Amino acid sequence: LRRNPGEPEFHQAVHEVLHSLAPVLRKRPEYAEAKLVERLVEPERQVLFRVPWTDDRGEVHVNRGYRVEFSSALGPYKGGLRFAPDLALGTVKFLAFEQIFKNALTGLGIGAGKGGADFDPKGRSDAEVMRFCQSFMTELHRHLGEHTDVPAGDIGVGGREIGYLFGQYKRLTNRFEAGALTGKGTGWGGSQARTEATGYGTVHFVREMLATRGEDIAGRRVVLSGAGNVSLFAIEKAQAYGALVIACSDSSGYVVDEAGLDLELLKEIKLERRGRLDTYAEARPGARFSTTGSVYDVPCDIALPCATQNELGQDHAVGLVKNGVKAVAEGANMPCTPDAVEVLREAGVLYGPGKAANAGGVATSALEMRQNAARDIWSFEETENRLAAVMRDIHTQCVVAAEEFGAPDDYVLGANAAGFLRVAEAMRDQGVV
Ligand code: NDP
Repeated sequence: LRRNPGEPEFHQAVHEVLHSLAPVLRKRPEYAEAKLVERLVEPERQVLFRVPWTDDRGEVHVNRGYRVEFSSALGPYKGGLRFAPDLALGTVKFLAFEQIFKNALTGLGIGAGKGGADFDPKGRSDAEVMRFCQSFMTELHRHLGEHTDVPAGDIGVGGREIGYLFGQYKRLTNRFEAGALTGKGTGWGGSQARTEATGYGTVHFVREMLATRGEDIAGRRVVLSGAGNVSLFAIEKAQAYGALVIACSDSSGYVVDEAGLDLELLKEIKLERRGRLDTYAEARPGARFSTTGSVYDVPCDIALPCATQNELGQDHAVGLVKNGVKAVAEGANMPCTPDAVEVLREAGVLYGPGKAANAGGVATSALEMRQNAARDIWSFEETENRLAAVMRDIHTQCVVAAEEFGAPDDYVLGANAAGFLRVAEAMRDQGVV
Protein backbone atom coordinates (compact mmCIF):
# COMPACT_ATOMS: atom_id res chain seq x y z
CA LEU A 1 0.00 0.00 0.00
CA ARG A 2 2.82 2.39 0.89
CA ARG A 3 4.57 1.80 -2.43
CA ASN A 4 1.41 2.40 -4.45
CA PRO A 5 -0.59 5.12 -2.70
CA GLY A 6 -3.91 6.30 -4.12
CA GLU A 7 -4.44 3.24 -6.32
CA PRO A 8 -7.44 1.45 -4.74
CA GLU A 9 -8.38 -0.55 -7.84
CA PHE A 10 -4.83 -1.85 -8.17
CA HIS A 11 -4.84 -2.85 -4.50
CA GLN A 12 -8.22 -4.58 -5.01
CA ALA A 13 -6.98 -6.60 -7.98
CA VAL A 14 -3.72 -7.60 -6.27
CA HIS A 15 -5.51 -8.51 -3.04
CA GLU A 16 -7.86 -10.88 -4.87
CA VAL A 17 -4.99 -12.62 -6.64
CA LEU A 18 -2.79 -12.93 -3.54
CA HIS A 19 -5.70 -14.41 -1.61
CA SER A 20 -6.07 -17.10 -4.30
CA LEU A 21 -2.35 -17.82 -4.46
CA ALA A 22 -1.92 -18.78 -0.80
CA PRO A 23 -2.71 -22.50 -1.40
CA VAL A 24 -0.63 -22.48 -4.60
CA LEU A 25 2.47 -21.13 -2.85
CA ARG A 26 2.03 -23.64 -0.03
CA LYS A 27 2.27 -26.41 -2.63
CA ARG A 28 5.10 -24.72 -4.58
CA PRO A 29 7.36 -23.12 -1.93
CA GLU A 30 10.12 -22.67 -4.53
CA TYR A 31 8.05 -19.90 -6.15
CA ALA A 32 7.79 -18.06 -2.83
CA GLU A 33 11.55 -18.37 -2.33
CA ALA A 34 12.23 -16.93 -5.79
CA LYS A 35 10.07 -13.92 -4.81
CA LEU A 36 7.94 -14.46 -7.89
CA VAL A 37 4.94 -12.72 -6.37
CA GLU A 38 6.98 -9.69 -5.27
CA ARG A 39 8.32 -9.43 -8.83
CA LEU A 40 4.92 -10.01 -10.39
CA VAL A 41 3.21 -7.11 -8.57
CA GLU A 42 5.82 -4.60 -9.79
CA PRO A 43 5.32 -3.48 -13.42
CA GLU A 44 8.35 -3.99 -15.64
CA ARG A 45 7.92 -0.46 -16.99
CA GLN A 46 5.43 2.43 -16.70
CA VAL A 47 5.32 5.25 -19.21
CA LEU A 48 3.49 8.52 -18.48
CA PHE A 49 3.41 11.27 -21.06
CA ARG A 50 1.91 14.57 -22.12
CA VAL A 51 -0.63 14.57 -24.95
CA PRO A 52 -1.20 18.09 -26.29
CA TRP A 53 -3.78 18.61 -29.04
CA THR A 54 -5.96 21.31 -30.58
CA ASP A 55 -9.76 21.20 -30.80
CA ASP A 56 -11.87 22.36 -33.75
CA ARG A 57 -12.06 25.91 -32.37
CA GLY A 58 -8.29 26.17 -32.11
CA GLU A 59 -8.18 25.75 -28.32
CA VAL A 60 -5.22 23.78 -26.96
CA HIS A 61 -5.84 20.87 -24.54
CA VAL A 62 -3.37 18.80 -22.53
CA ASN A 63 -4.15 15.22 -21.53
CA ARG A 64 -2.09 12.55 -19.82
CA GLY A 65 -1.14 9.32 -21.61
CA TYR A 66 -0.26 6.02 -19.94
CA ARG A 67 1.24 2.68 -20.86
CA VAL A 68 1.92 0.16 -18.13
CA GLU A 69 4.06 -2.71 -19.42
CA PHE A 70 3.46 -5.20 -16.65
CA SER A 71 4.88 -8.54 -17.69
CA SER A 72 6.74 -9.89 -20.70
CA ALA A 73 7.24 -13.39 -19.27
CA LEU A 74 5.05 -15.02 -21.92
CA GLY A 75 5.41 -12.68 -24.90
CA PRO A 76 5.21 -9.04 -25.98
CA TYR A 77 3.17 -6.79 -23.70
CA LYS A 78 -0.45 -7.05 -24.80
CA GLY A 79 -3.57 -5.23 -23.67
CA GLY A 80 -5.93 -2.45 -24.65
CA LEU A 81 -5.94 1.33 -24.57
CA ARG A 82 -8.73 3.13 -22.69
CA PHE A 83 -9.80 6.71 -23.31
CA ALA A 84 -11.90 7.89 -20.36
CA PRO A 85 -11.96 11.27 -18.58
CA ASP A 86 -11.35 9.79 -15.11
CA LEU A 87 -8.55 7.42 -16.15
CA ALA A 88 -5.71 7.40 -13.59
CA LEU A 89 -2.52 5.39 -13.20
CA GLY A 90 -4.04 3.07 -10.57
CA THR A 91 -6.82 2.05 -12.98
CA VAL A 92 -4.35 1.32 -15.77
CA LYS A 93 -2.21 -0.70 -13.35
CA PHE A 94 -5.15 -2.82 -12.20
CA LEU A 95 -6.13 -3.51 -15.78
CA ALA A 96 -2.56 -4.40 -16.76
CA PHE A 97 -2.17 -6.63 -13.70
CA GLU A 98 -5.38 -8.54 -14.51
CA GLN A 99 -4.10 -8.92 -18.04
CA ILE A 100 -1.12 -11.02 -16.81
CA PHE A 101 -3.38 -13.87 -15.71
CA LYS A 102 -5.95 -13.45 -18.47
CA ASN A 103 -3.36 -13.56 -21.22
CA ALA A 104 -1.65 -16.55 -19.61
CA LEU A 105 -4.96 -18.42 -19.59
CA THR A 106 -5.33 -18.01 -23.37
CA GLY A 107 -2.19 -20.12 -23.85
CA LEU A 108 -1.23 -17.92 -26.82
CA GLY A 109 2.16 -16.44 -25.94
CA ILE A 110 1.27 -12.89 -24.97
CA GLY A 111 2.59 -10.79 -22.09
CA ALA A 112 0.55 -8.12 -20.32
CA GLY A 113 0.12 -4.37 -20.57
CA LYS A 114 -2.57 -1.69 -20.63
CA GLY A 115 -2.70 1.99 -21.38
CA GLY A 116 -4.80 4.94 -22.38
CA ALA A 117 -5.44 8.56 -21.59
CA ASP A 118 -7.74 10.78 -19.52
CA PHE A 119 -9.32 11.95 -22.76
CA ASP A 120 -13.09 11.89 -23.29
CA PRO A 121 -13.96 11.12 -26.91
CA LYS A 122 -17.68 11.71 -26.21
CA GLY A 123 -18.97 14.75 -28.06
CA ARG A 124 -15.70 15.20 -29.98
CA SER A 125 -15.69 15.39 -33.77
CA ASP A 126 -13.86 12.77 -35.85
CA ALA A 127 -11.20 15.39 -36.65
CA GLU A 128 -10.61 16.09 -32.94
CA VAL A 129 -10.38 12.37 -32.13
CA MET A 130 -7.91 11.97 -35.00
CA ARG A 131 -5.69 14.81 -33.80
CA PHE A 132 -5.76 13.42 -30.26
CA CYS A 133 -4.83 9.91 -31.48
CA GLN A 134 -2.00 11.29 -33.60
CA SER A 135 -0.54 13.24 -30.67
CA PHE A 136 -0.94 10.22 -28.35
CA MET A 137 0.85 7.92 -30.81
CA THR A 138 3.63 10.46 -31.43
CA GLU A 139 4.94 9.61 -27.97
CA LEU A 140 3.70 6.04 -27.57
CA HIS A 141 5.13 4.71 -30.84
CA ARG A 142 8.70 4.48 -29.49
CA HIS A 143 7.53 1.89 -26.95
CA LEU A 144 5.57 -0.32 -29.38
CA GLY A 145 6.37 -3.03 -31.90
CA GLU A 146 5.12 -6.45 -32.88
CA HIS A 147 7.77 -8.09 -30.67
CA THR A 148 7.66 -5.46 -27.91
CA ASP A 149 4.23 -4.12 -27.05
CA VAL A 150 0.98 -4.53 -28.99
CA PRO A 151 -2.02 -2.42 -27.85
CA ALA A 152 -5.68 -2.89 -28.81
CA GLY A 153 -8.96 -1.13 -27.93
CA ASP A 154 -10.91 -0.87 -24.70
CA ILE A 155 -13.46 1.64 -23.36
CA GLY A 156 -13.56 4.65 -25.67
CA VAL A 157 -11.16 3.08 -28.16
CA GLY A 158 -12.86 1.24 -31.02
CA GLY A 159 -12.21 0.74 -34.73
CA ARG A 160 -12.12 4.48 -35.49
CA GLU A 161 -9.43 5.19 -32.89
CA ILE A 162 -7.33 2.13 -33.79
CA GLY A 163 -7.38 3.33 -37.41
CA TYR A 164 -6.08 6.79 -36.51
CA LEU A 165 -3.48 5.33 -34.12
CA PHE A 166 -2.22 2.88 -36.72
CA GLY A 167 -2.05 5.57 -39.41
CA GLN A 168 0.21 7.70 -37.21
CA TYR A 169 2.35 4.71 -36.15
CA LYS A 170 2.93 3.84 -39.80
CA ARG A 171 3.83 7.41 -40.64
CA LEU A 172 6.31 7.73 -37.76
CA THR A 173 8.04 4.38 -38.29
CA ASN A 174 7.80 4.22 -42.08
CA ARG A 175 6.68 0.60 -41.72
CA PHE A 176 3.38 -1.17 -42.34
CA GLU A 177 3.87 -3.23 -39.20
CA ALA A 178 0.41 -4.81 -38.92
CA GLY A 179 1.37 -6.79 -35.80
CA ALA A 180 1.99 -3.63 -33.75
CA LEU A 181 -1.71 -2.98 -33.05
CA THR A 182 -4.78 -5.22 -33.00
CA GLY A 183 -8.44 -4.50 -33.60
CA LYS A 184 -7.59 -3.13 -37.04
CA GLY A 185 -10.09 -2.88 -39.88
CA THR A 186 -10.59 -6.25 -41.57
CA GLY A 187 -9.57 -4.74 -44.93
CA TRP A 188 -6.05 -3.83 -43.69
CA GLY A 189 -4.82 -6.55 -41.36
CA GLY A 190 -7.59 -6.87 -38.79
CA SER A 191 -8.94 -10.27 -37.84
CA GLN A 192 -12.47 -11.35 -38.57
CA ALA A 193 -14.46 -11.75 -35.34
CA ARG A 194 -12.17 -9.51 -33.26
CA THR A 195 -14.92 -6.94 -32.71
CA GLU A 196 -17.32 -9.66 -31.62
CA ALA A 197 -14.80 -11.75 -29.68
CA THR A 198 -15.05 -10.46 -26.11
CA GLY A 199 -18.85 -10.57 -25.99
CA TYR A 200 -19.08 -13.87 -27.85
CA GLY A 201 -16.38 -15.36 -25.61
CA THR A 202 -18.21 -14.33 -22.44
CA VAL A 203 -21.30 -16.18 -23.64
CA HIS A 204 -19.22 -19.26 -24.51
CA PHE A 205 -17.79 -19.15 -20.99
CA VAL A 206 -21.17 -18.83 -19.28
CA ARG A 207 -22.49 -21.77 -21.31
CA GLU A 208 -19.53 -23.86 -20.13
CA MET A 209 -20.24 -22.89 -16.51
CA LEU A 210 -23.94 -23.72 -16.84
CA ALA A 211 -23.12 -27.07 -18.45
CA THR A 212 -21.30 -28.15 -15.25
CA ARG A 213 -24.78 -28.09 -13.64
CA GLY A 214 -26.53 -29.65 -16.61
CA GLU A 215 -28.07 -26.33 -17.65
CA ASP A 216 -28.04 -24.12 -20.76
CA ILE A 217 -28.61 -20.49 -21.69
CA ALA A 218 -31.51 -21.26 -24.09
CA GLY A 219 -34.79 -19.81 -22.82
CA ARG A 220 -33.03 -18.04 -19.93
CA ARG A 221 -33.63 -14.40 -19.05
CA VAL A 222 -30.39 -12.46 -19.49
CA VAL A 223 -29.56 -8.96 -18.25
CA LEU A 224 -26.38 -7.06 -19.17
CA SER A 225 -24.78 -3.80 -18.23
CA GLY A 226 -23.24 -1.57 -20.88
CA ALA A 227 -24.26 -1.12 -24.49
CA GLY A 228 -20.78 -0.96 -25.99
CA ASN A 229 -18.48 -3.31 -27.81
CA VAL A 230 -18.56 -6.15 -25.29
CA SER A 231 -22.22 -5.87 -24.37
CA LEU A 232 -23.67 -5.68 -27.89
CA PHE A 233 -21.90 -8.81 -29.08
CA ALA A 234 -22.67 -10.70 -25.88
CA ILE A 235 -26.32 -9.92 -26.64
CA GLU A 236 -25.85 -11.17 -30.20
CA LYS A 237 -24.36 -14.50 -29.13
CA ALA A 238 -26.77 -15.04 -26.23
CA GLN A 239 -29.70 -14.49 -28.59
CA ALA A 240 -28.15 -16.86 -31.12
CA TYR A 241 -28.15 -19.54 -28.42
CA GLY A 242 -31.84 -18.90 -27.70
CA ALA A 243 -31.62 -16.69 -24.60
CA LEU A 244 -34.20 -13.98 -23.92
CA VAL A 245 -32.08 -10.85 -23.42
CA ILE A 246 -34.32 -8.31 -21.70
CA ALA A 247 -32.21 -5.43 -20.39
CA CYS A 248 -29.00 -3.49 -20.88
CA SER A 249 -27.63 -0.13 -19.76
CA ASP A 250 -25.35 2.72 -20.70
CA SER A 251 -23.93 5.60 -18.71
CA SER A 252 -27.29 7.44 -18.90
CA GLY A 253 -29.60 4.67 -17.56
CA TYR A 254 -31.02 1.30 -18.54
CA VAL A 255 -33.65 -0.08 -20.85
CA VAL A 256 -35.99 -3.04 -20.24
CA ASP A 257 -37.70 -4.79 -23.11
CA GLU A 258 -39.59 -7.90 -21.97
CA ALA A 259 -40.16 -8.96 -25.57
CA GLY A 260 -36.39 -9.30 -26.00
CA LEU A 261 -33.96 -6.53 -26.98
CA ASP A 262 -34.01 -5.51 -30.65
CA LEU A 263 -30.29 -5.80 -31.39
CA GLU A 264 -30.41 -4.11 -34.79
CA LEU A 265 -32.03 -1.05 -33.22
CA LEU A 266 -29.49 -1.06 -30.38
CA LYS A 267 -26.58 -1.28 -32.80
CA GLU A 268 -27.99 1.55 -34.88
CA ILE A 269 -28.33 3.77 -31.79
CA LYS A 270 -25.03 2.92 -30.11
CA LEU A 271 -22.68 2.15 -33.01
CA GLU A 272 -23.97 4.33 -35.83
CA ARG A 273 -25.57 7.31 -34.08
CA ARG A 274 -23.40 7.13 -30.91
CA GLY A 275 -26.68 7.96 -29.11
CA ARG A 276 -28.25 7.17 -25.74
CA LEU A 277 -30.59 4.40 -24.66
CA ASP A 278 -33.65 6.58 -24.06
CA THR A 279 -34.06 6.73 -27.85
CA TYR A 280 -34.42 2.92 -27.85
CA ALA A 281 -37.49 3.13 -25.60
CA GLU A 282 -38.92 5.93 -27.76
CA ALA A 283 -38.61 3.77 -30.88
CA ARG A 284 -39.81 0.48 -29.40
CA PRO A 285 -43.37 0.02 -28.08
CA GLY A 286 -43.42 -1.84 -24.76
CA ALA A 287 -39.85 -0.97 -23.83
CA ARG A 288 -39.08 1.32 -20.90
CA PHE A 289 -36.05 3.46 -20.10
CA SER A 290 -35.13 4.22 -16.50
CA THR A 291 -32.57 6.31 -14.67
CA THR A 292 -33.59 5.14 -11.20
CA GLY A 293 -32.45 1.88 -9.64
CA SER A 294 -30.20 -0.40 -11.64
CA VAL A 295 -30.29 -2.83 -14.53
CA TYR A 296 -29.55 -5.51 -11.91
CA ASP A 297 -33.00 -4.88 -10.33
CA VAL A 298 -34.54 -6.60 -13.38
CA PRO A 299 -35.23 -10.27 -12.44
CA CYS A 300 -33.02 -12.58 -14.51
CA ASP A 301 -31.38 -16.02 -14.59
CA ILE A 302 -28.05 -14.78 -15.94
CA ALA A 303 -26.33 -11.42 -15.43
CA LEU A 304 -23.42 -10.30 -17.60
CA PRO A 305 -21.79 -7.12 -16.31
CA CYS A 306 -20.12 -5.68 -19.41
CA ALA A 307 -19.63 -1.96 -18.60
CA THR A 308 -16.89 -1.01 -16.16
CA GLN A 309 -15.10 -1.78 -12.89
CA ASN A 310 -16.94 -1.93 -9.53
CA GLU A 311 -20.36 -1.30 -11.08
CA LEU A 312 -22.08 -4.33 -9.46
CA GLY A 313 -22.05 -3.81 -5.68
CA GLN A 314 -23.20 -5.82 -2.70
CA ASP A 315 -26.80 -4.53 -2.84
CA HIS A 316 -27.05 -5.44 -6.51
CA ALA A 317 -25.74 -8.92 -5.75
CA VAL A 318 -28.26 -9.37 -2.91
CA GLY A 319 -31.05 -8.33 -5.30
CA LEU A 320 -29.85 -10.66 -8.03
CA VAL A 321 -29.73 -13.60 -5.60
CA LYS A 322 -33.20 -12.78 -4.27
CA ASN A 323 -34.52 -12.80 -7.83
CA GLY A 324 -32.99 -16.24 -8.45
CA VAL A 325 -29.91 -15.51 -10.59
CA LYS A 326 -28.03 -18.69 -11.54
CA ALA A 327 -24.85 -17.36 -13.14
CA VAL A 328 -22.87 -14.12 -13.35
CA ALA A 329 -20.03 -13.86 -15.85
CA GLU A 330 -17.93 -10.72 -16.20
CA GLY A 331 -17.63 -9.31 -19.71
CA ALA A 332 -16.02 -6.22 -18.16
CA ASN A 333 -12.86 -6.12 -16.04
CA MET A 334 -13.56 -6.41 -12.29
CA PRO A 335 -17.17 -5.12 -12.52
CA CYS A 336 -18.21 -6.90 -9.30
CA THR A 337 -16.99 -5.47 -6.00
CA PRO A 338 -15.36 -7.99 -3.59
CA ASP A 339 -18.40 -7.98 -1.27
CA ALA A 340 -20.70 -8.60 -4.24
CA VAL A 341 -18.59 -11.60 -5.22
CA GLU A 342 -18.85 -12.91 -1.67
CA VAL A 343 -22.66 -12.65 -1.75
CA LEU A 344 -22.85 -14.48 -5.09
CA ARG A 345 -20.47 -17.24 -4.05
CA GLU A 346 -22.13 -17.81 -0.68
CA ALA A 347 -25.48 -18.17 -2.46
CA GLY A 348 -23.98 -20.82 -4.76
CA VAL A 349 -24.30 -18.68 -7.88
CA LEU A 350 -21.87 -19.62 -10.67
CA TYR A 351 -19.46 -16.69 -10.88
CA GLY A 352 -17.00 -16.28 -13.76
CA PRO A 353 -14.35 -13.57 -13.15
CA GLY A 354 -13.41 -11.26 -16.01
CA LYS A 355 -9.89 -12.55 -16.42
CA ALA A 356 -11.39 -15.85 -17.54
CA ALA A 357 -14.81 -14.88 -18.91
CA ASN A 358 -13.70 -11.94 -21.08
CA ALA A 359 -10.40 -13.37 -22.33
CA GLY A 360 -11.90 -14.01 -25.78
CA GLY A 361 -11.04 -10.48 -26.91
CA VAL A 362 -7.35 -10.65 -26.20
CA ALA A 363 -7.23 -14.25 -27.44
CA THR A 364 -8.58 -13.14 -30.81
CA SER A 365 -6.10 -10.25 -30.78
CA ALA A 366 -3.36 -12.86 -30.43
CA LEU A 367 -4.94 -14.72 -33.36
CA GLU A 368 -4.83 -11.44 -35.30
CA MET A 369 -1.08 -11.19 -34.56
CA ARG A 370 -0.68 -14.75 -35.77
CA GLN A 371 -2.46 -13.95 -39.06
CA ASN A 372 -0.37 -10.78 -39.47
CA ALA A 373 2.90 -12.68 -38.90
CA ALA A 374 1.92 -15.26 -41.52
CA ARG A 375 0.36 -12.63 -43.83
CA ASP A 376 -2.72 -14.80 -43.73
CA ILE A 377 -6.46 -14.09 -43.48
CA TRP A 378 -8.81 -16.55 -41.82
CA SER A 379 -12.55 -16.67 -42.39
CA PHE A 380 -15.01 -15.50 -39.73
CA GLU A 381 -16.05 -19.10 -39.13
CA GLU A 382 -12.50 -20.38 -38.66
CA THR A 383 -11.61 -17.54 -36.28
CA GLU A 384 -14.80 -18.01 -34.29
CA ASN A 385 -14.22 -21.74 -33.98
CA ARG A 386 -10.74 -21.08 -32.61
CA LEU A 387 -12.18 -18.52 -30.17
CA ALA A 388 -14.76 -21.02 -28.93
CA ALA A 389 -12.00 -23.62 -28.44
CA VAL A 390 -9.88 -21.16 -26.44
CA MET A 391 -12.85 -20.32 -24.19
CA ARG A 392 -13.56 -24.01 -23.59
CA ASP A 393 -9.92 -24.55 -22.73
CA ILE A 394 -9.87 -21.59 -20.30
CA HIS A 395 -12.94 -22.97 -18.58
CA THR A 396 -11.30 -26.39 -18.25
CA GLN A 397 -8.09 -24.86 -16.86
CA CYS A 398 -10.13 -22.98 -14.22
CA VAL A 399 -12.04 -26.11 -13.18
CA VAL A 400 -8.92 -28.29 -13.01
CA ALA A 401 -6.88 -25.74 -11.02
CA ALA A 402 -9.77 -25.05 -8.62
CA GLU A 403 -10.02 -28.78 -7.92
CA GLU A 404 -6.25 -29.22 -7.58
CA PHE A 405 -6.11 -26.49 -4.93
CA GLY A 406 -9.12 -27.76 -3.00
CA ALA A 407 -11.85 -25.31 -4.04
CA PRO A 408 -14.06 -26.93 -6.68
CA ASP A 409 -16.44 -24.48 -8.39
CA ASP A 410 -14.25 -21.51 -7.37
CA TYR A 411 -13.50 -19.91 -10.74
CA VAL A 412 -11.60 -17.04 -9.10
CA LEU A 413 -9.08 -19.35 -7.50
CA GLY A 414 -9.01 -21.53 -10.61
CA ALA A 415 -8.29 -18.62 -12.98
CA ASN A 416 -5.69 -17.00 -10.74
CA ALA A 417 -3.89 -20.26 -9.98
CA ALA A 418 -3.83 -21.55 -13.56
CA GLY A 419 -2.71 -18.18 -14.94
CA PHE A 420 -0.08 -17.72 -12.23
CA LEU A 421 1.46 -21.18 -12.73
CA ARG A 422 2.01 -20.52 -16.41
CA VAL A 423 3.67 -17.16 -15.79
CA ALA A 424 5.62 -18.46 -12.81
CA GLU A 425 7.19 -21.28 -14.83
CA ALA A 426 8.30 -18.84 -17.51
CA MET A 427 9.73 -16.44 -14.92
CA ARG A 428 11.62 -19.26 -13.22
CA ASP A 429 13.08 -20.38 -16.56
CA GLN A 430 14.14 -16.85 -17.50
CA GLY A 431 16.03 -16.13 -14.27
CA VAL A 432 15.88 -13.07 -12.05
CA VAL A 433 14.90 -10.39 -14.58
P1 NDP B 1 -17.25 0.53 -24.72
O1 NDP B 1 -16.73 1.90 -24.51
O2 NDP B 1 -17.49 0.04 -26.09
O3 NDP B 1 -18.63 0.33 -23.91
C1 NDP B 1 -18.78 0.57 -22.54
C2 NDP B 1 -20.27 0.67 -22.27
O4 NDP B 1 -20.48 0.73 -20.87
C3 NDP B 1 -20.91 1.92 -22.87
O5 NDP B 1 -22.18 1.59 -23.36
C4 NDP B 1 -21.01 2.85 -21.67
O6 NDP B 1 -22.06 3.79 -21.78
C5 NDP B 1 -21.31 1.86 -20.59
N1 NDP B 1 -21.01 2.33 -19.24
C6 NDP B 1 -19.90 2.93 -18.77
N2 NDP B 1 -20.00 3.15 -17.46
C7 NDP B 1 -21.20 2.65 -17.09
C8 NDP B 1 -21.90 2.55 -15.86
N3 NDP B 1 -21.36 2.99 -14.72
N4 NDP B 1 -23.11 1.94 -15.85
C9 NDP B 1 -23.66 1.48 -16.98
N5 NDP B 1 -23.05 1.55 -18.17
C10 NDP B 1 -21.86 2.13 -18.22
O7 NDP B 1 -16.23 -0.43 -23.93
P2 NDP B 1 -16.05 -2.00 -24.09
O8 NDP B 1 -17.37 -2.64 -24.36
O9 NDP B 1 -14.93 -2.24 -25.03
O10 NDP B 1 -15.52 -2.39 -22.64
C11 NDP B 1 -16.41 -2.66 -21.55
C12 NDP B 1 -15.67 -3.42 -20.47
O11 NDP B 1 -15.15 -4.64 -21.02
C13 NDP B 1 -14.47 -2.71 -19.85
O12 NDP B 1 -14.35 -3.11 -18.50
C14 NDP B 1 -13.29 -3.28 -20.63
O13 NDP B 1 -12.07 -3.18 -19.93
C15 NDP B 1 -13.75 -4.73 -20.76
N6 NDP B 1 -13.11 -5.49 -21.83
C16 NDP B 1 -13.18 -5.05 -23.13
C17 NDP B 1 -12.58 -5.79 -24.13
C18 NDP B 1 -12.73 -5.44 -25.56
O14 NDP B 1 -12.35 -6.26 -26.41
N7 NDP B 1 -13.28 -4.29 -25.93
C19 NDP B 1 -11.78 -7.00 -23.81
C20 NDP B 1 -11.88 -7.42 -22.43
C21 NDP B 1 -12.49 -6.65 -21.49
P3 NDP B 1 -22.09 4.94 -22.93
O15 NDP B 1 -22.52 4.22 -24.17
O16 NDP B 1 -23.11 5.90 -22.42
O17 NDP B 1 -20.70 5.46 -23.00
